[in-house]
Amino acid sequence: MRSPDELSDLFRASGRKVTPQRRRIFELLEGNSSHPTAESIYLELVKDMPTVSLKTVYMTLKELEEMGEVQCLDLGMGSSRFDPNVDGEHHHLVCVSCGKVRDFQLSQNWDLKLQVPDEMFSVSKAEIVFRGTCATCRVIGSRSVVENSDKVHIS
Ligand SMILES: [Zn+2]
Ligand SMILES: [Zn+2]
Repeated sequence: MRSPDELSDLFRASGRKVTPQRRRIFELLEGNSSHPTAESIYLELVKDMPTVSLKTVYMTLKELEEMGEVQCLDLGMGSSRFDPNVDGEHHHLVCVSCGKVRDFQLSQNWDLKLQVPDEMFSVSKAEIVFRGTCATCRVIGSRSVVENSDKVHIS
């Protein structure tokens, strides 16, 4: 994602308004690696801007997504997560216990695209979601079954 200044210029250049609320949303997203939901951004925003609406947050996120500045991820957790890390491919580690999402890079020699069995299918993008339990949850939580399911999305 571009910096809040660059995004403000870009919004203005495309005839969009840059309200203080929007500007603050850009700031909250900049360098944010927690993959926030729209609701969590809203809750953060409403602390210093009590008049902001959840709808403003959704609309701003949608515009950023259309501009390719954030990606909207459906990680199968109910709400969409927003990721300002759009430079280069990465995958996600999802904690099924606390819902924490982390970025993850595969090692260079593990090329998913080469492992698709159907030669008729041309793969442009492959994303993996690794589900499991994060270190914090493993420490606090029960030592019961750790769910590990790999889900491969190919689009
Ligand atoms: Zn966790
Ligand atoms: Zn990510």
